[in-house]
Amino acid sequence: MNVYDSERMTDILAPLGYAAADVPDDADLVILNTCHIREKAAEKIYSELGRLRQAKSRRERAGLTMTIAVAGCVAQAEGGEIVRRAPFVDMVFGPQTYHRLPEMMARVHRTSDVVMDTDFPTESKFDQLPAQSAPAGVAAFVTVQEGCDKFCTFCVVPYTRGAEFSRPIGQVLAEVGHLVHSGMHEITLLGQNVNAYHGAAEDGREWNLARLIVELARIKGLQRIRYTTSYPADMDDDLIAAHRDVPELMPFLHMPVQSGSDRVLQAMNRRHSANDYRRLVDRLRRARSDIAMSSDFIVGFPGETDADFSETMALVRDIGFSQAYSFKFSPRPGTQAAIDERQVPDAVKTERLDALQTALNAGQIAYNKCCIGRTMPVLFDRLGRHPGQLVGRSPYMQAVHVKAPPTMFGDVVDVRIVRAYANSLGGELAKIDERASYHESPSS
Ligand code: SAH
Repeated sequence: MNVYDSERMTDILAPLGYAAADVPDDADLVILNTCHIREKAAEKIYSELGRLRQAKSRRERAGLTMTIAVAGCVAQAEGGEIVRRAPFVDMVFGPQTYHRLPEMMARVHRTSDVVMDTDFPTESKFDQLPAQSAPAGVAAFVTVQEGCDKFCTFCVVPYTRGAEFSRPIGQVLAEVGHLVHSGMHEITLLGQNVNAYHGAAEDGREWNLARLIVELARIKGLQRIRYTTSYPADMDDDLIAAHRDVPELMPFLHMPVQSGSDRVLQAMNRRHSANDYRRLVDRLRRARSDIAMSSDFIVGFPGETDADFSETMALVRDIGFSQAYSFKFSPRPGTQAAIDERQVPDAVKTERLDALQTALNAGQIAYNKCCIGRTMPVLFDRLGRHPGQLVGRSPYMQAVHVKAPPTMFGDVVDVRIVRAYANSLGGELAKIDERASYHESPSS
């Protein structure tokens, strides 16, 4: 979502004459768009700000200026602290106010005080943003839902992104239509709880995510639809059915479970048990047998015992994830779990994370190996590192490296998988068409 937000900030600033610079030293304005989800992400900005301060004084010595802005969730959560620790910062604004950037820029130029805007405004930034310029490539993100009302006890999102909000249907259809018209073949619908989506339609009724997906699939030229991130308890029948009925909806689902222990899940205030999650995956697999499952895990949540952790390991074995992200519990300011007295020692967290990641990696490699010999459609969305190579995405989100002519960039092409690695696949074009054979033997 920060990638999407940063692109939108670029769109807002373009009419003011701003274009992206290659290095900070060349920039009149630097915006750090930050993440507050774990301490490590939040701490990174202070080292980055240290480097920017030096760049700023280099520019000032050369008679130039540099405006430094901190945006995003760290700005929202600890704006005051940023200004205290880094008084050379000129502007601080949260994820819900960046549509006011032109106004903030004007204020920065008028005053020597820091310009701060960490409101949760009543107006929606989406109503104020200019039309989205298509990003480079063939795949784009579109935020459809933002914020969260779930209040998981570990999580800062409700405090940084605010309450759950769904963009109106008309706005989403227009934005996606525009992006597809500009050459995008794949759209990923974004939201902190994207499957809680309930956008207002023109007639005042609300559409759920499934209905939105069905409608988007009608847009000519849109070949692939994905969505992330899903909350298990919001996975409704319609959305499961969409995985069965909508061929454009890719058979890949990132659905964080966080833990395999019901005790821990309850303490986290998750509204699902481990078996709810297992049953949900069964239903999804009945709807779409090849659906690949991805998840997030937290180890060392306060009070997590060895027995709890072994239930997480059991869930990993039962589900067979195609990929997953895992983290040590990180106490976040203002959350309930941060002040829990039963904090798990870091050494224990490290040990559990190692064990979990070993199992998840083994699962991922096994999943990738199973793909060898299969033919699957790949959307080529990047040039490879080696000349004559393209990289694309399988339906299951795997990166696939293929020897293919550059003219195939942006196409969905059948690829036979011949090699599997931990983080990618290697494949060959299933049908060598004229473009490919021309490229390979120009004399023929
Ligand atoms: N809305 C999504 C999560 C988005 S944050 C959901 O509810 O599932 C992405 C991931 O970061 C989370 O799924 C969680 O695994 C991890 N995370 C969030 N807060 C964390 C914390 N305090 N410590 C460690 N990991 C955390």
